Formats: sequence, structure tokens, C-alpha cells
Amino acid sequence: MSFAEAATQRLETIGFRSTAPRRAVLSAIQDAPGPFTIEDLLAELPSVGRATVFRTIKLLQELELVCRVPLEDGTARYQLSEGGHHHHLVCRTCGAVAEFSDLEIDTRIQEQASTHGFALQGHSLELYGRCRDCRRR
Ligand SMILES: [Zn+2]
Ligand SMILES: [Zn+2]
Ligand SMILES: [Zn+2]
Repeated sequence: MSFAEAATQRLETIGFRSTAPRRAVLSAIQDAPGPFTIEDLLAELPSVGRATVFRTIKLLQELELVCRVPLEDGTARYQLSEGGHHHHLVCRTCGAVAEFSDLEIDTRIQEQASTHGFALQGHSLELYGRCRDCRRR
């Protein structure tokens, strides 16, 4: 099953009808060559309203089908996600984003929060650098 089909099913199970604009957003996401911005999607889908694009991305994030990757310049990219809590390796050269999870890191982060009397409600961890492919070039 393609991403767009799977996402349509998941959205329907939580009560969102499949509409033509929403299907257009899903297939644009599926066809994205790599991590994309909301602006990329809007440019790709001139006939789809801004609100629909934003709402669809938000729903996909809630369903963990798409994740948000914060960049150092304050912008964000989105990409299809494996789901579940994870961290990112972001290549500064080509923009590729790899995902990894590490329970030990999460445990240490929780410990740091506890040490500071801080009620941890979430965290995001991005590693910035050059990916293996770019290092080989
Ligand atoms: Zn991710
Ligand atoms: Zn790279
Ligand atoms: Zn974590």
C-alpha cells in the first residue's frame, strides 16, 4: 500500500473524509524527492488552499506518518516518518534527514530533567553535519 493510500485510511478512521484537495496533498508528500517545506507543498499545489495543506500536515504529524525536522536557521522540513519517538541526523550539505532512536539518550535526558526539578513533556534532538554520501563526494 502506498503512503497516500495508508494515510487516507488512517485519516478516515479518525473521521476525516478523503477529499480531492487532501488527496492532492498526500500524493505531493508521497512524491516529494526529500524533506520538504510547507512552502514547497504550496508551490506544488497552487489549487489547494493554505489551510488544507497546514491542517493535513498537522494531522499527519499527529498520526506519526510525517515528522517535523527543525533546522538551525529556524525553519523546518517535513518528511515521511517511521513513526514513534526518534531523533534526526540532518545533513547540512544535501539536506538528507535520517532517523534514529536511542533509549539510553532518552533516559539521560529524563534524568537531566529530573535533576533540574523539571517536568519533562517532550524533547527533540537533531544532529547537524555531513552525511556519509556527502563525505564520500
Ligand atoms: Zn523524523
Ligand atoms: Zn548529505
Ligand atoms: Zn529522544
